[in-house]
Amino acid sequence: MIYIGCHLSVTNGYEAMGRQMLSFGGNTFSWFTRNPRGGKSKDVIPSDVKALADILEEKKFGKLVAHASYTMNLCSANPETRANGLDMLKKDLEKMEALPGQYYNFHPGSHTGQGADVGVEQIAEGLNKALFPEMKTIVLLETMAGKGSEVGRSFEELRQIIDLVELDDKLGVCFDTCHTWDAGYDIVNDLEGVLHHFDKVIGLERLKAVHFNDSKNDCGSHKDRHEKLGQGMIGMDAMKKIATHPVFEGLPFILETPNDDEGYIQEIALVKEWT
Ligand code: FE
Ligand code: FE
Ligand code: ZN
Repeated sequence: MIYIGCHLSVTNGYEAMGRQMLSFGGNTFSWFTRNPRGGKSKDVIPSDVKALADILEEKKFGKLVAHASYTMNLCSANPETRANGLDMLKKDLEKMEALPGQYYNFHPGSHTGQGADVGVEQIAEGLNKALFPEMKTIVLLETMAGKGSEVGRSFEELRQIIDLVELDDKLGVCFDTCHTWDAGYDIVNDLEGVLHHFDKVIGLERLKAVHFNDSKNDCGSHKDRHEKLGQGMIGMDAMKKIATHPVFEGLPFILETPNDDEGYIQEIALVKEWT
């Protein structure tokens, strides 16, 4: 089996997210550690986190996949943006320790014209400053569509980052199906080939989570526009093949599809039916 859930709002706190996901029929979820466009993060209330931890255990949830702010960019050409990004990362990782053993996913960054090599180095530099040996969180690099100057558009770029990070046992990868497809990996006609390539370059032991999205655009489009399951260019057959592939066994699948609550409830039910 896999774990399935969707992205939720943290507005009403941690326990509320757990209860909401139960009502949606899922057993994992993601949330933004702070406003997705940047800004302050809510303080963690210990009793609220404890209440969620109890739900996770009692209801046998899979790993949760927190998502960093989109504004966090560890490889911007602007040093101030980079410093801000590092500050956000450090604070987020500290906060994650309130709920030990979960995943924290982030977009590696956009090099804003510096070139991917410089981007890779600056991202690794940020991670080297932020990761600490005692941490219980695994930090996930998300596979990116390659929109604009995004770093992480290829498995090789993710590998380069991992290679430069000292505490690389704290690192994993989140496989976003829309992004990977948009980046040019043909998960529709050659899922086996793509997974084999992932294994060769990164290693399947780093594969920790899936962002489960269809795509509005074609393979290699570098667009990053998510679509509802089965209504995009990846299509229902390929989505089902991914969800039921043994390589993803036991991983949290997070829907980031353009849906309202009812749509998520339906997609969660559908994936549960498959798996
Ligand atoms: Fe993302
Ligand atoms: Fe994603
Ligand atoms: Zn996306």
